[in-house]
Amino acid sequence: MQADLLIQNARVVDPSQAIDRVMNVAITDGKIAALDAPAATEAKQTYDASGKLVCPGFIDIHAHVSSDIVPLAVTPDEAGVTAGCTAVSDAGSVGYLHLHPFRKFAIAPARTDVFVFLNVSPFGEVVLPEVGFDIVNEAEFLKVIEANRDIVKGIKLRAIGELIYATKVDVVDLAVRIARKAGLPLMIHLGMGFNEPLTDDEIASFITRMLGRCEKGDILTHAFTDKPGGVFRLDGTPIAGLEDALARGVYLDAAPGRGHINFNLVKAALARGFAPQALGTDVVRLPEEQPHFYNVAAVASKFMALGMSLNDVIAAATCNPAKMLGEEEKRGGLKIGMTADLSILGYHEGEFLLHDGRVGNVVPANIFLSPQMVVKRGEIIQVRESHRGHIPTKSTMEALMKK
Ligand SMILES: [Zn+2]
Repeated sequence: MQADLLIQNARVVDPSQAIDRVMNVAITDGKIAALDAPAATEAKQTYDASGKLVCPGFIDIHAHVSSDIVPLAVTPDEAGVTAGCTAVSDAGSVGYLHLHPFRKFAIAPARTDVFVFLNVSPFGEVVLPEVGFDIVNEAEFLKVIEANRDIVKGIKLRAIGELIYATKVDVVDLAVRIARKAGLPLMIHLGMGFNEPLTDDEIASFITRMLGRCEKGDILTHAFTDKPGGVFRLDGTPIAGLEDALARGVYLDAAPGRGHINFNLVKAALARGFAPQALGTDVVRLPEEQPHFYNVAAVASKFMALGMSLNDVIAAATCNPAKMLGEEEKRGGLKIGMTADLSILGYHEGEFLLHDGRVGNVVPANIFLSPQMVVKRGEIIQVRESHRGHIPTKSTMEALMKK
């Protein structure tokens, strides 16, 4: 066999096939040609991955990549291939009215594969909080979904206070109806503002009622928020309705961003057996790069430090989100014949300090995963330096936090 690319001495971690061992990966015609390829395999290009992890291409299930339409969003490749992910899904930045320009001007030229959870608002997150629920044309919405089935993989709903008191239509009802008619999952943002004019009881009963309407395959995102309207209390106990929803096959996505997670809550929830099935980032555009909030490898490092295994965090970055997108036959694994989308990570051992953003909790870690490069359809793409070179050692982080 002559390979186009031979990745040598790779520690391959592919939870979809229960693989975690050192081997050589051969890639030909943009597809996985062989695992356990002999060292002497002839290849046009070789890459020595000694000491690195080689995984199926990471999938960021919760990104905001409709740059140029929505001010808060980055470009697909900023969240994707140059941050260590080969696929991303946009979590509600756009609504059905903007899907066409998003597809034409952002998704088509990107090297990263992009999927979309369409916001139930026709304008997506062009205006926040979302507006226009009362002008949704359901037939048109469904027509747009039908014409874009290859990329539209769900409906996004932000479960915020305005949905309860400020709209003329029942937005939860609208989102559920569109999702069920289209046969797509709902992705539900958890966590309200801190100054909602609502009582705790009103919020709790709203969330519990919403959980009651969740079905197998629906996704609760920002699952470990400590804001009002979350599904865990600070001691890690679930609110009414969560356990039933999880038993029906509802997924938890971490999507910590910079303000949607509390490490103490995560530790307590993990100790009670509640782990996220996906590790989205919630990447948005900020004045400065935020590498250790905004790449999936960094989020995975945090969840390892909080108690998850390497295998489980890699599954939550690969085969699990592939399944959430209904793409598990095409991505999320390194099976022979699959498109050669890989994420190659630095595996750093030492003393690291990771923090959760808004709440200010830090967790010590002795392993840190940094995105180094991806292989996209067989081609090597370097991760950009701000992400590749960001290693939050204890000393650099302590110096940073003193500032
Ligand atoms: Zn988001």
